[in-house]
Amino acid sequence: MEFNTEKTIFEKIIDREISAEILMEDDLCIVIRDINPGAPVHVLIIPKKRIPHLAEAREQDALLLGHLLLMAQKFAQQKELGGGFRVVINNGQDAGETVPHLHVHLLAGKPMIWPPC
Ligand code: AMP
Repeated sequence: MEFNTEKTIFEKIIDREISAEILMEDDLCIVIRDINPGAPVHVLIIPKKRIPHLAEAREQDALLLGHLLLMAQKFAQQKELGGGFRVVINNGQDAGETVPHLHVHLLAGKPMIWPPC
């Protein structure tokens, strides 16, 4: 896929050029509340490094990818999401990806159905 050099909305949030509710942050990623929630709890775990899509992640991104999941776990522990939570990565048009900057959705707070499509 083509790499657009224009900043994505998530890079603008990371760079504090536009506002968002940032719930957690470390050197590698931020966790923000999704502006259009699909569940009572819906946050996005976003790496500061721009990888447009999961399909474009590389071997050298392995630690970062693992870190995003551990950040999801940390968020779930802090928010005491004992009833369970779901993590989702949309890759590409058919999957409904709308922002070309890899991000992990974490959804919780209600019983969910499977499969989600
Ligand atoms: P995806 O469809 O997987 O690319 O997910 C993109 C997500 O980003 C959607 O759930 C949007 O609601 C969310 N989103 C888009 N713009 C913002 C924003 N400015 N602040 C927070 N979430 C956003």
